[in-house]
This record gives sequence, C-alpha cells and structure tokens, in this order.
Amino acid sequence: MAAAPGCADTGPSAAERLLEVDRRWISTNRTLLAWLETLRPALGGATDIAGSIQTRLEALFPLMDELCRATCPWCPEPCCIVTRVWFDFRDLLFFHLIAAPIPPGPVWRESKTPCRYLSAHGCRLPRLLRPWACSQYLCATQRRLLAKTKGEVRVMALDAEITEIALMRFAMEEAVQETLKH
Ligand code: SF4
Ligand code: SF4
Repeated sequence: MAAAPGCADTGPSAAERLLEVDRRWISTNRTLLAWLETLRPALGGATDIAGSIQTRLEALFPLMDELCRATCPWCPEPCCIVTRVWFDFRDLLFFHLIAAPIPPGPVWRESKTPCRYLSAHGCRLPRLLRPWACSQYLCATQRRLLAKTKGEVRVMALDAEITEIALMRFAMEEAVQETLKH
C-alpha cells in the first residue's frame, strides 16, 4: 500500500523483499552445508546414495530432453506456469551431498508469478539442479508420445526408474538420519 501524503514509506520495497527471500535461502543453505560438513566423515552411505541418484538421473536426461523438445514449445498450458513446485529437503540434501552449486534462490518468491527459472527457452536450471517435482514429471502429452514412438514398455520402464530414484532419495535422507543417531 502507498504511504499516506506527508508520511515516509519505511517498509521494504518489492525488490528488497525479493532480495530478502534469496538472502534467507542462501543463509539456510550455508547452515545446512556447515551442519553436513560436521557429519561428513560419517556420511559415506548417504553420499554414495546421492552419487548413485546423480548417475541414474543423468542417464534419464537425454530422453527427457528429447521429449521436451518435441512437446514443450507447442504446449498450450505449460506446467511451469500452471503448477507450483518447490525445492524440498531431499533436493537440498542431494545438492549438498554431491557438492553441486545451489540455485540462487527458491523457485517461487511471490504468488501469482511464474517460476523464476522459466525463460522463453524453457527452464534456466540444469536438469540436475531442478526440484525433484520437475525432474520426475512426465506429462500426458509426453507419455503418449513416448508410448507411440518407443512403445508402452518404455513408458513402464521409465516409470519404474523414476520410482526407484524416488525411493533412493528417501534412503539418502534416512542414511543422514541414521548418522545422527550415532
Ligand atoms: S512437460 Fe508437458 S505440460 Fe509441461 S510444458 Fe512440456 S508439454 Fe507442456
Ligand atoms: S524449476 Fe524449471 S522445470 Fe521446474 S517449474 Fe521452474 S522452470 Fe519449470
């Protein structure tokens, strides 16, 4: 709301509020990283699982890229605009355990705006650094295309791989929790 005439508006501007959201994100991630570093010598199991998740994810990216190239540019209702996603705790654990660069801020900073990482050419984040909600998503159009071009069996195999990676993410988190008990 604008300040009344004669009164100074001392509240933060919209730009300052957005910067503050990013500052908190960076601070939270620094704290998480520092905490993980204190546990690092005992985190071997979790780090190994995170490394395996990275390998399996990267193996999926060429197919995901292919499907995206064939469908997203003509999509009438892009999921990055109509769906809200966020980085969850397992995403952050994963990034830190594989020592990946952390994205500069959370996906959403304001309501009623598209994802901040969406550009005219698609997502600006490397696939490895996207929220799991984005990485694992196969929309109906892509599912139909995959079934048509590579067969229903390929769709089932992809679903199974995504489920397996999702379970590995839970195992990674549990491995960190186990470390805390000892
Ligand atoms: S993934 Fe599917 S829903 Fe999302 S933008 Fe691409 S075609 Fe559209
Ligand atoms: S992070 Fe990337 S893939 Fe996920 S919603 Fe935002 S633009 Fe889309």
